[in-house]
Amino acid sequence: MTNTSELLNQFHKAIKSNEIEIIDLSHTLGPNTPMIKVPEGHGKNPPPVSLEYISNYTDDGGHSRWSTLTTAEHAGTHFDTPSHWTSGQDFVDGNTETIAVNRFLAPACVLDYSDGVKKNPDFILTKNDILKWEDQHGSIESGSWVLFQSGWSDRFNDPDKFLNMDEDGCHSPGPDPDAVKLMIERDVCGFGTETIGTDYGAASKFEPPFPLHYFMHGANKFGLASLTNLDKLPPKGSIIITPPLKIAMGSGSPLRVLALIPKL
Ligand code: MN
Repeated sequence: MTNTSELLNQFHKAIKSNEIEIIDLSHTLGPNTPMIKVPEGHGKNPPPVSLEYISNYTDDGGHSRWSTLTTAEHAGTHFDTPSHWTSGQDFVDGNTETIAVNRFLAPACVLDYSDGVKKNPDFILTKNDILKWEDQHGSIESGSWVLFQSGWSDRFNDPDKFLNMDEDGCHSPGPDPDAVKLMIERDVCGFGTETIGTDYGAASKFEPPFPLHYFMHGANKFGLASLTNLDKLPPKGSIIITPPLKIAMGSGSPLRVLALIPKL
């Protein structure tokens, strides 16, 4: 049997020596963070992120700098809990307070479709795309994240390009209902994406609407939105760390997402 204190010791040494590398999968959260625009008839829009000084070292005789952060739970790089969606609202262990903390550390499968997305911003991730990835890399193991690499994070600093909206709505890549059902069959931990939300841009037109949210959260699984640096991860072999803030009854939260990868 493995001596776990020795295992932790080795782990720490491997981090210190960079044998295990840590990659930051998060964008900076601030007033420039692009905010989602909910399609008409599907609810309200969030306010922009704001940071206002309480004091700035010198103001009012203060010795410190600190700010009031105003943010939606779903802003920038953020975590979606099951309780975010009607289909997941009854899970007692499905909000930021109640999710078991050992679910915030899990292996990741990174599926790269950035070439397809470059050609077509309305790229739909299908069941067949995922099965083809599995042919090449082996099956998606139970408890793994599926991270959808699309290259979309390159657009993050230009909100117009990131949302990519016209009169028909939002044009950004994402999964169709059958792809989501396959991920649930694989018993994934959740689905992460580089786009502003986990669903396809025009997902209000699917049946059911927003199938990623509907099925994934209905199966007590998670989402991660607005990730970056997925191109730095191997297809398999990384572990990601994803604890959201422990907000009372939180439906999600901005967070720092870290990936541990073996040095090649
Ligand atoms: Mn969200």
